[in-house]
Amino acid sequence: MGYGLSPLRGFSKRRLSIGDTRANKWPISRVLIFLWYRSEGLGRCHSMKYVFVTGGVVSSLGKGLTAASLGTLLENRGIKVALQKFDPYLNLDPGTMSPFQHGEVYVLDDGAETDLDLGHYERFTSTKLTRRNNTTSGQVYQQVLDNERAGRYLGKTVQVIPHVTDEIQRRIHVIAEESKADILITEVGGTVGDIEGLPFLEAIREFAQDAGPGNVCFIHVTYVPFIKAAGELKTKPTQQSVAKLREIGITPHLLVCRCEKPLDKELRQKISMFCNVPFEAVIEEKDVDHTIYEVPLMLQRERMDDLVCETLRLNPPPANMGAWQDIVRKTIAPQHRVRIGVVGKYVELQDAYKSVYEALKHGGIANDCGVQIEQIEAEEVEKGDPAKIFKDLGGILVPGGFGDRGIEGKILAARYARENNLPYLGLCLGMQIATIEFGRNVLGLTGANSIEFDPATPHPVISLQDSQKDVKLMGGTMRLGAQPCQLVLGTKAQRLYGAFVIHERHRHRYEFNNTYRAQFENEGVCFSGTTPDGSLVEILELTKHPFFIACQFHPEFQSKPNGPHPLFKGFIAAAHERMHHRAL
Ligand code: GLN
Repeated sequence: MGYGLSPLRGFSKRRLSIGDTRANKWPISRVLIFLWYRSEGLGRCHSMKYVFVTGGVVSSLGKGLTAASLGTLLENRGIKVALQKFDPYLNLDPGTMSPFQHGEVYVLDDGAETDLDLGHYERFTSTKLTRRNNTTSGQVYQQVLDNERAGRYLGKTVQVIPHVTDEIQRRIHVIAEESKADILITEVGGTVGDIEGLPFLEAIREFAQDAGPGNVCFIHVTYVPFIKAAGELKTKPTQQSVAKLREIGITPHLLVCRCEKPLDKELRQKISMFCNVPFEAVIEEKDVDHTIYEVPLMLQRERMDDLVCETLRLNPPPANMGAWQDIVRKTIAPQHRVRIGVVGKYVELQDAYKSVYEALKHGGIANDCGVQIEQIEAEEVEKGDPAKIFKDLGGILVPGGFGDRGIEGKILAARYARENNLPYLGLCLGMQIATIEFGRNVLGLTGANSIEFDPATPHPVISLQDSQKDVKLMGGTMRLGAQPCQLVLGTKAQRLYGAFVIHERHRHRYEFNNTYRAQFENEGVCFSGTTPDGSLVEILELTKHPFFIACQFHPEFQSKPNGPHPLFKGFIAAAHERMHHRAL
């Protein structure tokens, strides 16, 4: 081997012994790294199987959804799965990226700001995720450079291969070890052919070589475009993408072909032949008609889980997807329908409010209610007539956000909901908006605002948290992750949760300014949730309104199709009630 043995190679199956001749090949720097890994508790993986999901041709193919759907199928076959995402960009995490660049930032219990695919993983499976489940190139390089500064490479030239690739592999082992799962599904972000993705592909190639046959399954998600002028699906981009992958040394076991039209037999044969993949391993993943929750069922029909199990030499019982079919049925053919307006500033982006849209649908499933989401641009509300814009809605939701663009439109939306008894759900910024609106229009606090938008406001009803006052760095410094919240007996929130202490995920710098608490309470605001010490407002609701709840946290991150979040469930029920009554 040109560059010697990776300290990680063979940990799962082989152990270096004194008499092992391979041990003699180890330079001292590798031994040091090896000892460091061992001190981290790594390198003693129980027998484990690995699935790597790569993407070809174009981005946004839904690799995350495919990986998550495979997770659903395998879990329903009694297999314990873990999921992990590699992101080849250099940011340490997506926390500082604009939604225009990256879509939603998904927050985990431990406060990690991660890629939105981790949201799919949590919604589709029961796997527990931590910051270790999302690795970026930035994190890999930071660790390698820390190692170098700590002298762990003992004078060696630090290189992409093997040092960067070893660090990537270490991160696979970390999840394998921590999760105690049977199968680890690792999704490699980006598209095959990207320069920045190469170290990840090289790392998984090395990893597979070491793990040996029957222990690794490569799935390549690719695109088979429909060319209108020719009236047919074209396989060339897929052929080239697979060729690129094989150049690196990876031959996929399964090809998942994203397409708008069905793949016929001939096309599958062609893909199979040119890409060196068995005919039955050419899987069709057509655009779904109704809901992303159809994807696992579609992939099951294509025998994707069977093929993965065969490749990994596993033989679990077939997946029982009864409960999942029920979810899909309720989404496709609900008894009732509601229209919800989401008033935001990234509404034209499909991914910016991903978890919010999903959580609304979960609330719909719980009420046997189809949720039609109206994406309303906040700036349009400023220019238009709220009475016209909001007239036919069952409820208004104002999601999280940063910066002052569109703020006044959101305030108009909260006002309309309050004055017209229209159900309102405010999330994070949506709570701050409701506070500003109430301050200005009910309490008469002229110019009330958040100091985020107007640092000189005469009435800073939303102020900077004390803990944020000395913060200088932007990345990972907000109030983040799951925090306990104490609910007040008999309030709407408390009844919806059916609990007194809840844990919800946060991502914010500003908070309700406590100097105004009494004034708000005197006019019908109930602070139904606070931190256990009472110092931070977490939930406010209007006592004389059918449903006006706003929270400082992000409940959308904990909602699942088979476990709808209580606030979303209650919101959709109230919206349905509202639409139903109006119809009478
Ligand atoms: N910009 C607000 C804050 O930092 C709200 C954040 C959010 O909605 N996630 O407090």
